Amino acid sequence: MMTTALPQKMDDLVTATPGRNCRFCGAQLQRTFVDLGMSPLCESYISPDALGRGEMYYPLHVYLCETCLLVQLEEFESPEAIFSDYAYFASFSDSWLKHCEKYCAEMAERFGLGSESFVAEIASNDGYLLQYFVRKGVPVLGIEPAANVAQAAADKGVPSLVRFFGSELARELAGEGRTADLVIGNNVLAQVPDLNDFVEGLQILLKPNGVLTLEFPHLLRMIERNEFDTIYHEHFSYFSLISTMKILEAHGLRVFDVEELKSHGGSLRVFATRAKSGSHRVTSNVQKVIGDEIAAKLDTCEGYEGFARQVKRVKVELVEFLLKAGEHGKKTVGYGAPGKSATLLHYCGIGKDMIEYTVDRSPHKQGKYLPGSRIPIFPPDHIRQTKPDYVVILPWNLKDEIMEQLEFIREWGGKFVVPIPGVTIL
Ligand SMILES: [Zn+2]
Repeated sequence: MMTTALPQKMDDLVTATPGRNCRFCGAQLQRTFVDLGMSPLCESYISPDALGRGEMYYPLHVYLCETCLLVQLEEFESPEAIFSDYAYFASFSDSWLKHCEKYCAEMAERFGLGSESFVAEIASNDGYLLQYFVRKGVPVLGIEPAANVAQAAADKGVPSLVRFFGSELARELAGEGRTADLVIGNNVLAQVPDLNDFVEGLQILLKPNGVLTLEFPHLLRMIERNEFDTIYHEHFSYFSLISTMKILEAHGLRVFDVEELKSHGGSLRVFATRAKSGSHRVTSNVQKVIGDEIAAKLDTCEGYEGFARQVKRVKVELVEFLLKAGEHGKKTVGYGAPGKSATLLHYCGIGKDMIEYTVDRSPHKQGKYLPGSRIPIFPPDHIRQTKPDYVVILPWNLKDEIMEQLEFIREWGGKFVVPIPGVTIL
């Protein structure tokens, strides 16, 4: 197997290397949050004709900036290489689509969006979200760097620009008078290497009283619930509300509300507007979430210690379970091929010897192999045909939905294995 965490001594050497700087405040990064060893780019699914070739691995070493408390990975590969042929089509999860439809209805009502408004979404993917505004007659623009998914959006009637977003594009749009009443950045902030340029762009794209909403996995929940597999190369930064507010404020934005969501194992939806805007009073939710973070000591370096130990415990539990199941002649397979599975499998050193295959609903992944572990990906029906004893749910954030879809494995006594926050057999 390819990876385990680096030995302590080497770890210290790596940490002492100069020239590694915080992507927000520029301070030198010296404190390790967690070191998950080496891992390939998690969305680089392997096609059968590439099985004879090697793969690039990059260090998955996460740092905490001691100055601004931003948790972050170094950038090893350009965003162009990662996202230009991105295989992830957002429209393949039912519960996610419901979440998006509800969001659009809420925003339209709260901020009075209609045919005179303009909504822009950054990283709009295949139009999974903006389609609900289009149905309400609200003019939209999607901005999406991956040409294949942007085309799928256009087919849904969602106009999309195939561009990377930053201050330059925002200035172009603002110059054409195309500033927005609502700017949406859902699950994109983490994927931005040049954070300052990106947030500056968000500010430029807003109308004077426009609203920005950002959704991202909440670092507090990631630490509490041991969700270390949400760390992967495509996610450069991991945010608390404390660090997010600092970043937004540095670019003339003010947070006025925050909602705690269940998505992605516990996310935040942050509402911001221009600091100068007289609209949008600050709600008590902001102080509540900040209070939770302070209670967990996330306002000091202390709150970030201990995560690495927690993560190691999952590795021991999961590998022990899989090895024992194998010894007892049980057949174990996976469900799903999400990005996060790469981190879990590599950090734990799990390959085909422990998980025979996985399945995924996305036809873009079927017939391919998971990066690194080379576990084959089949259509979901393969489970019915091969009757495994255990199905490991890799996208554990969707476990209720998946268990409902796969209820039929009970017919032959099949069980589900949920790896995070600790190994659970259901
Ligand atoms: Zn910093």
